[in-house]
Parts: sequence; C-alpha cells; structure tokens
Amino acid sequence: MVTGTTTTMTTMATNIKVELAAPDISAYRRGNTGIDYISTFDSGKPGPHVLVNAVTHGNEICGAIAVDRLFKMNLRPSRGKLSLAFANVDAYLRFDAAEPHQSRFIDEDFNRVWTPATLDGSRDSTELRRARAMRPLIDQVDLLLDIHSMHDPHGPVMISGPLDKGIAFARQVGTPQYIVADRGHANGTRMRDYGGFGDPDSTKNALLVECGQHWEKAAEHMAWQTTWRFLRSCEIVDAELASAQISADPPPSQSLVRVTDAVVANSLDFRFASGLKGLSRLARKGDLIGHDGRTPVLAPYDNCVLIMPTMVHVKPGLTVVRLGRLEVSA
Ligand SMILES: [Zn+2]
Repeated sequence: MVTGTTTTMTTMATNIKVELAAPDISAYRRGNTGIDYISTFDSGKPGPHVLVNAVTHGNEICGAIAVDRLFKMNLRPSRGKLSLAFANVDAYLRFDAAEPHQSRFIDEDFNRVWTPATLDGSRDSTELRRARAMRPLIDQVDLLLDIHSMHDPHGPVMISGPLDKGIAFARQVGTPQYIVADRGHANGTRMRDYGGFGDPDSTKNALLVECGQHWEKAAEHMAWQTTWRFLRSCEIVDAELASAQISADPPPSQSLVRVTDAVVANSLDFRFASGLKGLSRLARKGDLIGHDGRTPVLAPYDNCVLIMPTMVHVKPGLTVVRLGRLEVSA
C-alpha cells in the first residue's frame, strides 16, 4: 500500500493497533534449496511446483504466520512439489510493533523489480539482491500464492492480475469475496506478473491475496483460509487434510472488479465523500467520489468500486484511489 513520509508513518502507527505477533522464523533460514528461508518438498510424483510466499513486504505479518504454521505442521505435498518461502526477510527481521510501518522494505519495494531487464541489470539494492537469489526458484514455480496485507483498513481482495487465467484461478480458490483484476503498477513489475505468470500462453499462474489491514487479527484468518483453499485448488495436498483446515462456512459468492483508473491527487486537500471507504460501490456514473481541492471527482461509470483508497496524508502526485468496474456477481 501507499506509504508516506517517516513522520506520516509514525503518526499512523499510533492510530493502528498491532494485534498480530511476528513469528520467529530463524529456524527456516537454512532450508533445503540453497536459498535462505526457502524450502522445497518434493512428493516424487508428477504435479505442479507450488509456492506459498510470505513477507514480500516486511511488515505484512499474516503471511509469515501462515507459512510458519505450514512448516510447523510438517506439511508435505501428495503430488508435485511444495515450496514455502519468506521473501523480504531483511525487512521482516526489522519489524517492530512499536514502529510497524517502518519495515515494509529496506531500500526499495521488492514487489516492483520483477522484470528480466531489472533483475539482469547492474542496479543494486537489498531487495534486488534477494530477488536475484530467489529468481532461480521462482523460474521453476508453476503456481504461486503471494500473501500480503494492506496499510489502511480494507476488506480482503484477491489480486488476480489482468489475465483470464488469473481470474479463473481466483474463482477456483473461492475466497476472498472480491477479485480485483488489475495491470499492476506503473513504477515496476510485481512477482505475480513475472515471466510465465503474466504470459497468457503459459500454464503458469499466480495470485496475490491482500488479507486485510496488516496487523488485524482477521488478516491472519484470511491468510490461512486462502492458503488452504489455494493448496486444495492446486490439488497437491491431501483433500481430507485440507478440509480439516478450511472453514465449514461457505465463503460469500465472489464479485469481480476490473481496475480501470488511478485517481491522482492534484492538491493537498483531497477529501472523499462522507461514508466512502475501500470497496464502497458508487451505483451511478456521476456519483460523487470526493473533492480534490474545489474540484469534484465523479464516478466515471455505473457500479464503480473504490480500491484501496488513501484516506489520510494525501499529497499532490499520490494515487489516492484506484477505480474498478464491478463486472460479474458469481
Ligand atoms: Zn504487500
């Protein structure tokens, strides 16, 4: 999610309760892949190579909790291969519940470097070094779940990417309720869009789940449920074992939102209309989203959904919200 200056983050930190504790992952440093903090378990039977990845962003604790639990269960695949990874460990190890916004990354966003040009290039950073170390493994992965959480309070969403195969995969997993189909970010490429994941002709596929606000208890539950539904969809774990982990309550039917626009603030004074928040739906074209200074910002079409609005500390040039068209109710 969008972060602000150091001062902003400290101010925000005082307003948000940290309900989750970052697990000790030191036991997983020496895995079996030759890459720190990544282990691969091979069933010896044909099947996809599946990766469950945590802490692409160092302060997104719910994914670390889920992967730690999978390790502690000694989960092994019944076919194919299962890899468990902690990505931006350097940032994660700096997580401090008293300053929880500070450890998203060390030098740059790990989730904006995933193009061959950047990875093969000469630029250096903590995150690029880690991405380069992980790349040989990522190149072998067929199916990826990348577990994230969000800066501001927001209902969970599955980021499917723009391709039909990603949307279909999100429907197969079946949770969270909202599927957000987007093209990523102008300032760099995400791991979920890298290589075959972003190629419509490849059988590789990837999902990025945003489980809720970074440190709310509900994000831990969403990460666990999504992980097990994902593993079940990949058909690499024992079905009974998966059923024992997956909540008996059927998830709500899913809705697809296709991101069309990013609203960028032109002033310091961007205010959303009263009552609007993430996943709010504006029923009619022309409905008021907010004001940028004195200029009204209006919904460009019917059934316009607000995706991850930044409600505070807006500044000119910042993307304050992405807009998506609600397409289908499954
Ligand atoms: Zn993230």
